[in-house]
Amino acid sequence: MNKSEIAALDQNDPLRSHRDKFELPEDIIYLDGNSLGALPKGVADRLSDVVTQEWGKSLIKSWNVHDWYPQPGRVGDKIAKLIGAEQGSVVSADSTSVNLYKLLTAAVRLNEDLNPGRRVILSDTGNFPNDLYVIQGLVDLLGDDYEMRLVAPEEIAHALTEDVAAAVITQVDYRTGRRHDMADLTARAKDRGIKVIWDLCHSAGAFPVDLAGSGAEFAVGCSYKYLNGGPGAPAYLYVTPDLQESIRPPLSGWMGHTSPFDFDLDYKPAKGIARNLCGTPSVLGMHALETALEVWEDVDLQLVREKSQRMIELFAGLVDELCPDGGFSRVTTFPEESRGSQISLGHPDGYAIMQALIDRGVIGDFRAPNILRFGMTPLYVSYSEIYQAVEILADIMATGSWDQPKYHARSAVT
Ligand SMILES: *Cc1c(COP(=O)(O)O)cnc(C)c1O
Repeated sequence: MNKSEIAALDQNDPLRSHRDKFELPEDIIYLDGNSLGALPKGVADRLSDVVTQEWGKSLIKSWNVHDWYPQPGRVGDKIAKLIGAEQGSVVSADSTSVNLYKLLTAAVRLNEDLNPGRRVILSDTGNFPNDLYVIQGLVDLLGDDYEMRLVAPEEIAHALTEDVAAAVITQVDYRTGRRHDMADLTARAKDRGIKVIWDLCHSAGAFPVDLAGSGAEFAVGCSYKYLNGGPGAPAYLYVTPDLQESIRPPLSGWMGHTSPFDFDLDYKPAKGIARNLCGTPSVLGMHALETALEVWEDVDLQLVREKSQRMIELFAGLVDELCPDGGFSRVTTFPEESRGSQISLGHPDGYAIMQALIDRGVIGDFRAPNILRFGMTPLYVSYSEIYQAVEILADIMATGSWDQPKYHARSAVT
């Protein structure tokens, strides 16, 4: 594709007006919205208002008069619309890791009643290691012959066997961009009495997710990636309405109590999804998130999906065309239906190449051992920017400018 064909793609892009909703520096091409989404306009003003007017002036009355108290459920309902969940089945709380711990523990205990004697928690080697650490911590706590079983991502469907109590499946592989078939795996798991916790970190806001339509029972996800909620924004969790009353929350804090302000000496779980709350919510972070979610009010996620796939194709084609001798391997080789919203390239000097790119204003990231990762966020990245990004990559490779000591020095966060 030449430059004018690409300009025409931008001209005809039904999503192009959404870029205006974001604060983005002019001189960068941001291909890392899959790690930390861009800042939506309006968030800074809203936060300033919450701090100075609500906290500053209304002080503790704000829990009632500014509706801080119902916020976790209200924000949960907004996220629910983006992930195909029923209203009243999502709350915003804690981090993804903590929510995973909560739901996995609850799911394993629930299955002890439904399908006793199972001792395996299944996941795959493409999962984000963090999720495996959470499983390992739980297995250690449970003792009693519990074990984590890991299989290759392509084996997961066959590994859903009747000795498995619960499975933690991240829909999109953070490294390769492979996407699991949620409906198919959920159906297989339910058929065999397995409770699945879906991790939607790289799904929500990247493409349409249909939790209810897939029959999914549990899900967690973060809101600082494609949902643009800001660094460390509160995460969310989902429990299907049918199971909400069966959950025994492992972190039984007062915000999940049926009447926290009775200060009863005994824990009694709240009705519905609210019992999965634990402590006081992060009010400032949740306001940033709630304002950021306004971006989605008039967005068709199907269009987001279509554009992200076109961007991936364009990026891949341009790498072949403009840097044929770059030495890149294609990591994201899956057919469209099995892809998330990123493209990953392999290169033994991936880290240094990525630092050189960032220095030239093209921001992606690096994932050990050798992956350059480029996230596609169709609301605020144009096709022309994809072209420019690959042109700059080609220049860095052709001139060898990436191979300087400063680009080889590893930072703490990659
Ligand atoms: C980003 C990500 C997380 C992040 O978890 P935190 O608790 O927010 O640090 C968890 N799981 C997956 C699959 C992720 O991609």
